[in-house]
Amino acid sequence: MRLIMLGAPGAGKGTQAKKIAEKYSIPHISTGDIFRANIKNGTELGKKAKTYMDQGLLVPDELVCDLVVDRVGQPDCEKGYVLDGFPRTIPQAESLDAALKAVGSKIDYAIDVDVPDENIISRMSGRRACLKCGATYHLKYAAPKKEGVCDTCGEALVLREDDKPETVQKRLNVYHEQTQPLIDYYTKAEILVTVDGTKDMEEVFQAITEILDK
Ligand code: ADP
Ligand code: ADP
Ligand code: ZN
Repeated sequence: MRLIMLGAPGAGKGTQAKKIAEKYSIPHISTGDIFRANIKNGTELGKKAKTYMDQGLLVPDELVCDLVVDRVGQPDCEKGYVLDGFPRTIPQAESLDAALKAVGSKIDYAIDVDVPDENIISRMSGRRACLKCGATYHLKYAAPKKEGVCDTCGEALVLREDDKPETVQKRLNVYHEQTQPLIDYYTKAEILVTVDGTKDMEEVFQAITEILDK
């Protein structure tokens, strides 16, 4: 099962992608997590990506596409994968399609987690991230067992630099301009499915599994 998660920043793509990956035993591939790990490790890629990410801008397509195409070609992706945060532009989607076509593969579903802008800003201000293991929490909706500490690895949780309200508004604008056109793109490809992301996490997940298990 090869899946793409679509949706605004903070819509719940990562939350749902992790649950999907667990239930269907496929890798969860988050380009945001990959970049944050590179930043943490001080790699060249991390240094380049950080300048864009801190401003709420997209990292240029050429820094993202090869990385993802290479990742989905690895042996653990043979039975499928869930892409979270990629593609984010039409050229990224085209490059993925071309790479998959070349090896006789294709995406099964693009799942749009639909949440209006009004809900996003408040949701993001409550998000807390573990930069060590990639776990995500929410002060109100998914609180860690011990305040400020990752349940999984014990690392201190942080408010991501790009989750501050001024940057979130900018990321929403970037989403509408550069990523939302993908909704049309995957509608035309007849693989778009939409779920209501304003529901609670379990309800959203149930709506997704109903579609995938059909
Ligand atoms: P969110 O989970 O809030 O949607 P991500 O963790 O997916 O955010 O991404 C954080 C940042 O990483 C983005 O704002 C962007 O700068 C960069 N990024 C992640 N994926 C991509 C991509 N496919 N193309 C370009 N930039 C990306
Ligand atoms: P994305 O990957 O799309 O940026 P996340 O999965 O990181 O989004 O979710 C953003 C924030 O909202 C996180 O703090 C997460 O715990 C919380 N969250 C995710 N889904 C829901 C939901 N259905 N209801 C309330 N909060 C949610
Ligand atoms: Zn952790």
